[in-house]
Amino acid sequence: MPFDPDFLTNLVLLLAGFGGAFLVALWISLVIWTYRDIRARTRDPLMHLLSVFLVAVLNLPGILVYLILRPPRTLEEEYQHTLEEEALLQSLEEQPFCPGCERRVQDDWQICPNCQTRLRKPCTACGRLLELPWNICPYCATPVPGAYRETISLDDALQGLSPIDPQKGPQTQGEASSFSPPV
Ligand SMILES: [Zn+2]
Ligand SMILES: [Zn+2]
Repeated sequence: MPFDPDFLTNLVLLLAGFGGAFLVALWISLVIWTYRDIRARTRDPLMHLLSVFLVAVLNLPGILVYLILRPPRTLEEEYQHTLEEEALLQSLEEQPFCPGCERRVQDDWQICPNCQTRLRKPCTACGRLLELPWNICPYCATPVPGAYRETISLDDALQGLSPIDPQKGPQTQGEASSFSPPV
């Protein structure tokens, strides 16, 4: 069987054509990918131009250099990072201070562990923590014992006192007069 040199030439040309087309497609894809990637990482037009130029000229080695030098975070990641930092700062700022020693305390602490200032008091009925000035528990509506009640009625006020016997009136008056300083 005679060997056909034309067939071999055609085969080589065909493979070279495919190879060339693949390399051109790869080159264009790399340039497009770089452009998209650098746009997601910086808004600087000069950086966009330089990155695309680098990859367009150097191709695969250019991609390597670009991967080493590109900004580490995308704009989206940078934004998320800023949000997280702000949230962290805000949560620190919202943390209350001890009125005694000005150190940070937790919301659910009764006493400052540092200076032993009383921060909150527990409700006698439900046990939840109340602010010190509160006279009534907002969770279970139980009045705080010993608290000053503004809306006290006259009957409530007299309930704790012993009833005055009208017949012993002068006697109590005499007792009272014995407390007066001698003239
Ligand atoms: Zn303190
Ligand atoms: Zn309660």
